[in-house]
Amino acid sequence: MAQSVCEDLVVIESELTGLDRAIGDGDHGLNIARGCEQLKLNLPKFVDLESADCLMQIGQTVLNQVGGAAGALYGSFLISVARHISDSPGLEALSASLEQGLATVEGLGKSGCGDKTLVDVLEPVVKLIKSGSTDPVAIADCATISALATVQMEARRGRAAYLGPRSIGHMDPGARSCSAIIVSICTYLRSH
Ligand code: ADP
Ligand code: MG
Repeated sequence: MAQSVCEDLVVIESELTGLDRAIGDGDHGLNIARGCEQLKLNLPKFVDLESADCLMQIGQTVLNQVGGAAGALYGSFLISVARHISDSPGLEALSASLEQGLATVEGLGKSGCGDKTLVDVLEPVVKLIKSGSTDPVAIADCATISALATVQMEARRGRAAYLGPRSIGHMDPGARSCSAIIVSICTYLRSH
């Protein structure tokens, strides 16, 4: 699954670069693409690990290899989920560990819904799963719609916040990469 997520993310590198050029410093596409290439090289080392340990290794790699604010937030999310998850969790245990990951991201970034960040995608998706939804189509739609909703928001966190009202009218790059990751996971789950 991690392999397909990396492959799907590399495809949207220039889109992410364009979004981050509009309201940030333009490095999000490169940060994500470079991190994905590094992660793909490391994945064979993780294949024999139990799922929680595997997730922990992926999180450490993301934290070390994906640059920028988003790299730190994605890495911390995965590490936090890995710390709280069991090797074959039920839906309740899975959503509890995802909530822990979300809380870590929100604490680290001092961000919440409406700030025009990747949290605007992560939070509704985690809430949807917590409500009992396991339908990959519904989860993917939630991620896509939530990323689109950031277009109308004024940024209150990250570099885009310096633009104030001028950040309105552009999708948040982190929200876009987060939705791409979630859509990719959902697509993978539907075909496996
Ligand atoms: P940088 O801003 O350091 O160049 P990136 O360009 O890789 O980092 O990532 C930018 C994305 O990171 C933003 O679009 C936003 O989604 C996310 N982000 C930045 N700061 C925060 C924060 N404080 N809380 C949550 N997400 C954030
Ligand atoms: Mg940037």
